[in-house]
Amino acid sequence: MRLCNKVVLITGAGSGIGRSTALVFAKEGASVIVNDLTAAAGEETEAAIRSEGGKALFIQADVTDPASVQKMVARAIGEYGRIDVLFNNAGISGVGALHEVEPDAWDRIVRVNVRGVYLPSKYVLPHMMERRNGSIINMSSCVAEIGLARRASYAATKGAVLALTKSMQVDYASYNIRVNALLPGTILTPFVEKYLKESYDDPQAGLDGIRRRQLSGDLGLPEDVAQAALFLASDESKFMMGSPLYIDGGAVFGKNA
Ligand code: NAP
Repeated sequence: MRLCNKVVLITGAGSGIGRSTALVFAKEGASVIVNDLTAAAGEETEAAIRSEGGKALFIQADVTDPASVQKMVARAIGEYGRIDVLFNNAGISGVGALHEVEPDAWDRIVRVNVRGVYLPSKYVLPHMMERRNGSIINMSSCVAEIGLARRASYAATKGAVLALTKSMQVDYASYNIRVNALLPGTILTPFVEKYLKESYDDPQAGLDGIRRRQLSGDLGLPEDVAQAALFLASDESKFMMGSPLYIDGGAVFGKNA
């Protein structure tokens, strides 16, 4: 039980990596606050945790909306009295070279992927500061470190999240709050399935290309990222501060040809 007695808030936990992490955290003893935009998806995660005997509470909120986030944090604090771990996971995909990206699409991805990290952090941090304890995990991506074709808007947001993580760490270290980032490679989730359909005439060829890009020869699984999140959430990572953690099948530091 690596997260025994910890209260964890995971944004975007109705699908993919967020859901997988919620399940893993609950198995490790955490009380998991499952957030998502879509109630049906979040409730499914909540039900899956409870059916395995875990502790979960779904709270619907839009991470881009201050009132919605404030309400979610107030309810979580009301239920549990504290939040030990915040996993800023919610995010959306964006496709296109810079000249192909429409202004509205640009604003939308920045809104979800950057403002959606800023707002939950802004409203959870005062509670962590008061208790002088906390771990914040921000979802970046390996695309923050390497150039990938036609990912301009997405890469800009994930680079911003990595930079924000380092700044946050400096500001909150004296409150015993750790802030680290996850940098996954390509992980097989509904997000990637949608991306493949939207970006490639032949999604199978796209999938084969991604497989070749990672030294593992295949995509990662949501559980691979969940295990890394578990490490950052637990006290085992107490000496990790402001760091990127790569779970990318070698995409950043390896080269496949
Ligand atoms: P996913 O399956 O699409 O899950 C993302 C979840 O976030 C969805 O349930 C989505 O809800 C939710 N969400 C979106 N906008 C939200 C909002 N405004 N408020 C609350 N929840 C919101 O995607 P995933 O692959 O698990 O990705 C999770 C995170 O990992 C993202 O930040 C992504 O950028 C990052 N990541 C993914 C990969 C990968 O290869 N999969 C690689 C690197 C990084 P709705 O479906 O209802 O909109």
